[in-house]
Amino acid sequence: LKKSINLNIFDDTCVLCGVELVNSNERVICNNCKNLLSYKNSNKCKVCGLYIENGDICGNCMIKKPYFIKHSSYADYEGVLKELILIYKYGEKEEVKYLLSDLYLDLMKREFGFDFDYLIPVPMDKNRKRGFNHILEIVKLVSKKTGIKLLSSNLIKIKSTKPQVELDGKKRLKNLNNAFKVKNKKKIKDKKILLFDDVFTTGTTILQCSKELKKAGADVFAITLSRA
Ligand SMILES: [Zn+2]
Ligand SMILES: [Zn+2]
Repeated sequence: LKKSINLNIFDDTCVLCGVELVNSNERVICNNCKNLLSYKNSNKCKVCGLYIENGDICGNCMIKKPYFIKHSSYADYEGVLKELILIYKYGEKEEVKYLLSDLYLDLMKREFGFDFDYLIPVPMDKNRKRGFNHILEIVKLVSKKTGIKLLSSNLIKIKSTKPQVELDGKKRLKNLNNAFKVKNKKKIKDKKILLFDDVFTTGTTILQCSKELKKAGADVFAITLSRA
């Protein structure tokens, strides 16, 4: 009876391995699984965040500068991090957002700092069946913790597109071309913006969003949890 009265907001087993959460500092996942969630500390391109063996800037960024000033990911899209992103994205466990927001905060502390005017989540497709905007929910938490303003309705998606995962490189670019728009350009002119997404694959989403934000006069930085 006591257990049914005591409504736990969080389950008491690890969402990844199923072990019982017995330590008071454990939330959603156990400490063993949490230890596998670590920042990938290796050399990367100072512009696009691509992991490179040596040097400061990768070959691609030397040839053509992206629309963002800097992009970086927390780690590779694999293992525990990938599992958590998928569990969260498909709405199986909303509480995972607390954990993921801490990873973004950790990455901000390490590589970006907190000197931004606005935090902007990558917009979702209007025709998506699920109403839940998983990136927005995380950025809300990051905004709360850092005090940096969230701007969620200025960058919008104006074109319904196929999920990027179903397409290859060139088609991805075509798919998202002119898919995004800034509603109020004045609001972000000369502002420093941090753009959020979960996975950086070919980077098309981040690039297209950055392009629109830059066109409006903003300085764009982009942050993702993982790089595929
Ligand atoms: Zn576990
Ligand atoms: Zn690069």
